[in-house]
Amino acid sequence: MIIHMAEGATPDQTQRVIDRVVHDYGLRCETIVSDTTVIGVTGIAAVIDEGRILELPGVDRVIRITEKYKDASRTWHHEDSVVQVGPVPVGGQHLTVFGGPCAIESESQALDSARLARAAGVDVLRAFVDKSRTSPYDYRGLALDRGLEIAAAMKAETGLPIVSELIDLRHLDAFLRAGVDVIQVGARSAQYSPLLEELSRIEVPIVLKHGFGNDMTEWLCAAAYIMSGIDREGRATGRGNRNVILCYRGIKSFESETRFAADVAMIPLVRHRSHLPLLADPSHSSGDRKLVERVAYGLVAAGASGFEFDIHSNPAEALCDGKQAVGPEAGRIVENARRIHAMLAGVGYETGASLAAAAT
Ligand code: PEP
Ligand code: MN
Repeated sequence: MIIHMAEGATPDQTQRVIDRVVHDYGLRCETIVSDTTVIGVTGIAAVIDEGRILELPGVDRVIRITEKYKDASRTWHHEDSVVQVGPVPVGGQHLTVFGGPCAIESESQALDSARLARAAGVDVLRAFVDKSRTSPYDYRGLALDRGLEIAAAMKAETGLPIVSELIDLRHLDAFLRAGVDVIQVGARSAQYSPLLEELSRIEVPIVLKHGFGNDMTEWLCAAAYIMSGIDREGRATGRGNRNVILCYRGIKSFESETRFAADVAMIPLVRHRSHLPLLADPSHSSGDRKLVERVAYGLVAAGASGFEFDIHSNPAEALCDGKQAVGPEAGRIVENARRIHAMLAGVGYETGASLAAAAT
């Protein structure tokens, strides 16, 4: 952060600004005096509330160099991060596919869908117990214990790592005991800071969905919440969960023919701005099985590190999101997506002279 003092600001006024930065935030300052005075702040300047600096007498303007999402930003971490889900890498040059039923409905539905997903070539299996639905009259999942028992059976049957959405903090221990390998934070919970803080204290990989009313900065700030290990005094504790995987799923728009609006430009943009692995969700964005296949290809071509999609053994009978679930065509989708990804392996995230991303 750079703080420009106004022309004619007094040394006392400059000292007051420095005192605030040093004493309130524990950061360091370096001062350059020429026609005007410029103060450079070093350390985690993301903790500074700009308003508390701007209000001080003699301050002209404050320029933030560090994004508010420092830990998620590529500025400070140039290489792509690769998150390991057991033996499965996510991020970098890998294409990783997450798939399975939107929700566990019964043992036979879950196991049949799991086998279908496995045969299709997915790397990480969806085993969703808790569902956060818009209306309480919609299917919200089985009782927790029964759902987790079936989730564990899906994992045992396929040998695949499983991902499951955590809605209620009180369920975290049960999720971990059941062997959930990746915890998903859904779009509706994406800014719920108590959940994000709790997940910063474990090392289990997290899939963080993009909140459907959030912009990119808010999304990456949510990721930084999980990663930074910043305590309430704004000090780095040295802890924090670095294993964050982003998942783009579109935002609310005025278009009602698709479920959400997924902007394909967000994929290269987010990979440019953040070192984190980035999945995309062609099912919850389009909301329609007729669209899912082409949308999946588009998101992979745009540079996604993979995708997460709904696969169901009998979509017509699904209790949750059957309209957007694919059946046996899942195998073709995974295969073609891998071919598209391989074909574009040498292309970076920008047109022309690109970031080193393509080379890593
Ligand atoms: C899901 O992945 O099952 C889901 C509900 O997605 P989102 O949180 O993006 O709506
Ligand atoms: Mn769903």
